Amino acid sequence: MSERIQAHARRRATAQKARGDYHIELQEDGTFRVEKADGTAYVVNLAEETCTCPDFRQRLARREAYAGVWCKHLHLCAASFLR
Ligand SMILES: [Zn+2]
Repeated sequence: MSERIQAHARRRATAQKARGDYHIELQEDGTFRVEKADGTAYVVNLAEETCTCPDFRQRLARREAYAGVWCKHLHLCAASFLR
């Protein structure tokens, strides 16, 4: 195995984590793809603190109630990668 491929494999190993029913993958643009066991996937942007799931979009729609309230996907990504 070449050094380049080894380095790539290491990066992938650290960029992917399985947490319970979720599979989290760091994407090239810096966002996270969170995929559930049933195949449903959402994109989490930790830098902007956003998620594409319906739960999070509903919170954004009710802005008066939204004050940095994170959905579980944001929490999952933060817990997995912000260490
Ligand atoms: Zn979410």
